Amino acid sequence: MATRGEIENYLNQLLVADRFKDYGPNGLQVEGKPVVHKVVSGVTASLALIDAAIDAGADAILVHHGLFWRGHDGRLTGWLRARVARLMAHAINLYAYHLPLDAHAEWGNNAQLGLQLGLRADARFGEQDLGFIGPATGVSDAQALAVRAGAVLGRAPLLLPGDGRPLQRVAWCTGGAQGYFEAAIAAGADAFLTGEVSEPQAHLARETGVAFLACGHHATERFGAPAVAAQLAQALGLQHQHIEIDNPA
Ligand SMILES: [Zn+2]
Repeated sequence: MATRGEIENYLNQLLVADRFKDYGPNGLQVEGKPVVHKVVSGVTASLALIDAAIDAGADAILVHHGLFWRGHDGRLTGWLRARVARLMAHAINLYAYHLPLDAHAEWGNNAQLGLQLGLRADARFGEQDLGFIGPATGVSDAQALAVRAGAVLGRAPLLLPGDGRPLQRVAWCTGGAQGYFEAAIAAGADAFLTGEVSEPQAHLARETGVAFLACGHHATERFGAPAVAAQLAQALGLQHQHIEIDNPA
């Protein structure tokens, strides 16, 4: 077991949370009971995850997508009230780490997705060094990379094939990182893999020849929170359970 504060300190240090400019607060977002025995990890602090964590007997939840984002007006009404009320009724601590949890070189979403795909970064690119890039180990072309990603993630990616060139370097960034495509191209990628796609990336793939793969926001961000929570649990003597709440987006 560990105290609420020990957990936050450990996570802040492990993830170097104060290094990042982010879209919401990183760390303890909702204060619950002072002592924690069991932590549940998940991707998003949705009502479904909160309910599942209550059923699992959790004292704390660690997520990548927390509750409070820049641009929200701060009112606790509707769905947001329901989520916060459920947490507070059960005195569950909610810890959320967004960009720090994407970026960690070993336990973060990008590193863990790379591990799943058999890719290892030897450089970083893009804003706050969030993008990962490395040799295209064992994938000859974008089609082969799409097949591998589909097998690992359990869903077929949307592939914009580029010019069909052989792959030397693959870049990736989990979640909604489609805006990093140009930075990936500038960093020397022959293919860029992320969660989501928007309209401009189709043209960029055609005009630059660099392939683009949209593999699902949730699907690409499933691996960081459980990896970090496993480290936390081991270091502070907690029980840990990862709960997957399926999300097709
Ligand atoms: Zn995300």
